[in-house]
Amino acid sequence: LNRRLAEFGTTIFAEMSALAVATGSINLGQGFPDTDGPEEVREAAVRALRDGRGNQYPPGPGVPELRTAVAAHQLRRYGLAYDPDTEVLVTAGATEAIAASLLALLEPGDEVVALEPYYDSYAASIAMAGGRRVPVTLRPDGGRFRLDLDELRAAVTDRTRLLLLNTPHNPTGTVLTRAELAAVAALAVERDLLVVTDEVYEHLVFDEAEHLPLATFPGMRERTVTIGSAGKTFSFTGWKVGWVTAAPGLVTAVRSAKQFLTYVASGPFQYAVAEALTLPDSYFEGFREGMRVRRDILAEGLTGAGFEVFRPAGTYFITTDIRPLGEKDGLAFCRALPERAGVVAVPNAVFYDDREAGSPFVRFAFCKREEVLREAAERLRRL
Ligand code: PMP
Ligand code: GLN
Repeated sequence: LNRRLAEFGTTIFAEMSALAVATGSINLGQGFPDTDGPEEVREAAVRALRDGRGNQYPPGPGVPELRTAVAAHQLRRYGLAYDPDTEVLVTAGATEAIAASLLALLEPGDEVVALEPYYDSYAASIAMAGGRRVPVTLRPDGGRFRLDLDELRAAVTDRTRLLLLNTPHNPTGTVLTRAELAAVAALAVERDLLVVTDEVYEHLVFDEAEHLPLATFPGMRERTVTIGSAGKTFSFTGWKVGWVTAAPGLVTAVRSAKQFLTYVASGPFQYAVAEALTLPDSYFEGFREGMRVRRDILAEGLTGAGFEVFRPAGTYFITTDIRPLGEKDGLAFCRALPERAGVVAVPNAVFYDDREAGSPFVRFAFCKREEVLREAAERLRRL
């Protein structure tokens, strides 16, 4: 393994999911739903397969039906108009979108400012692109993990090429507010930065929280690469269908990298996701409401088991602090938890450069059936 990747090892998701299987534990580690998405979307994939749509290489930018549907979704939900031919790119999940964006937009040595804790592929993708990551740590404040705008501003230097944003934020569940996003946008304009914004949990925001795409803020549309994922929005994580929306120059750049990573992927699934994106608003509302109920079940269960719970405003993850349980090392806690309780979780420390700062935090996924969450809570209460 070369020096760029040596520090990364095996992803925590693979390690923890393997542990779940080996111990027969309830897996609240890796974020994947235990119930597939809508039946009609699955049927659409079967039809595409049977009709021979997408069984051979689809077009490099993605099938026109899906690009059109992505553009229509951005317009309908957010009032953002993108040209399906020049401003939309289909990718092999959001993971490839992130990697291709960074590979396309960074010069070696460029600095990337990213929120910490960060989704684990960010650090590896920045490294593969020869960039340098500069984390800005979200810190607990009044029950949520908050972005300190002064710290963000201070992290930007003359070598900063881009900001890598994520809202709703994995693993903390923070949803950046209008005021925070406005400040991020103003900074990007002032310092002439590109922004890659990972909005894969755009449909999972709860209570009063609202998802506001960064690209809707003044001066941002032309400098923002926005990333979405059918894995998250329609609960088909195995299909690996994601997308990028951005100005033509940026999409062309990302496509240049993408064509040499996978060229294309997920042929028949692209047609199915095109249909999924045209589901009525009631689908998205039901999806969100179902997850809100599960969030509440797990949040109460974890609180009852003695964890400090940061009730998430978005995503399908709950970050907890384990110190009230008399624990402080999240990695050791998560490695022992399957044996102790028959539950798997993920230590947030692996999403930090500053492992010490992340040490007491542990993430639980709640994209699971209600009875599974109740059983997990029951097991954790016996800890
Ligand atoms: N970004 C974030 C914040 C995620 O949580 C995930 C999924 N775990 C991804 C990107 C990757 O999405 P996909 O499965 O579409 O590659
Ligand atoms: N995004 C998922 C999570 O955060 C995992 C995706 C993966 O396994 N790469 O849990």
